[in-house]
Amino acid sequence: MRNPFIFFMIIIIAFSCGESESESNKPPVDPKDGMNIKSIITPTFNADSSFQYVIDQVDFGPRVPNTPEHDSCAVYLVNKLREFGAETMVQKGTVMAYTNSALSIQNIIGRFYKHRKKRILLCAHWDSRHIADRDPINPNGPIEGANDGASGVAVLLEIGRHLMKTDPNIGVDIIFFDAEDYGTPQLTVGMSALSDMDNSWCLGSQYWAKNPPISGYKPQFGILLDMVGASNAVFPKEGFSLKYANPVVQAIWSKAQSLGYGKYFINKAVGGITDDHKYINEISGIPVVDIIHYNPAKSDFGIFHHTHNDNLSIIDKETMRVVGNVCMEIIYQGL
Ligand SMILES: [Zn+2]
Repeated sequence: MRNPFIFFMIIIIAFSCGESESESNKPPVDPKDGMNIKSIITPTFNADSSFQYVIDQVDFGPRVPNTPEHDSCAVYLVNKLREFGAETMVQKGTVMAYTNSALSIQNIIGRFYKHRKKRILLCAHWDSRHIADRDPINPNGPIEGANDGASGVAVLLEIGRHLMKTDPNIGVDIIFFDAEDYGTPQLTVGMSALSDMDNSWCLGSQYWAKNPPISGYKPQFGILLDMVGASNAVFPKEGFSLKYANPVVQAIWSKAQSLGYGKYFINKAVGGITDDHKYINEISGIPVVDIIHYNPAKSDFGIFHHTHNDNLSIIDKETMRVVGNVCMEIIYQGL
């Protein structure tokens, strides 16, 4: 993803506490499913398990579209979702990169409790960047993407491991989007470069939104995870999330802060960051919130971003535990 448009930062912190309260008191259950929400205890998110899923992905090598490493990792992800009991499908397609090369992409979709109408969407991108354009050393080589790519997927895999074992009384779809990170090289830090002003990022989610594999798909809301595994991660309230899914943002951040994670989920709004959720919000009309590592104090992502430092050494299980626990609370207890 690329940097936010700070210049059109419009922050609306108009969150109604009353609304959140009544939301959380409402049993997030379709009565037709015949389940009783009160008996649900949120399962424990296992950070060691999620860390192993990061290792598994990185072990394939960079997951760049049109490479064997990419395709091998796709098989792994499909098998994992099936192992966890999800009805799993792969949306294959071809998209054009800014380089004018055609990319064979795979959006991987795992559906838990497919029959339920009331659903939520959890997503992350699974590809890794084809270049290290912010690294002075070997900038043309692909990055490992332990954080930028693998960490979000790993948190969702660990969540997926629990979903069939402990029924959340809601349908959950996990989608791993391809080709998020095949955008134009970033020539500036902080403010967006003019070359970024196109649609070269998020090619997999754009394809998914324009070619919906599930007709009439309308989850209540979605959560996108991106770069959720580095030490001292900071997750501000991101601009497009605030624009399209403000009540969901406020509820997630309140939940995180009530769990004691205010150090990570900060009460700071930033401009819109082009990421998969932007296209899902704008094309599909599904309110999706981005939980993304971006430090407003430095007006930048972490120093690992789009460099060869984005490897296992920067992954901190504690950050994944925090993000995993927040997501699990929302899935099992509602917003
Ligand atoms: Zn990236």
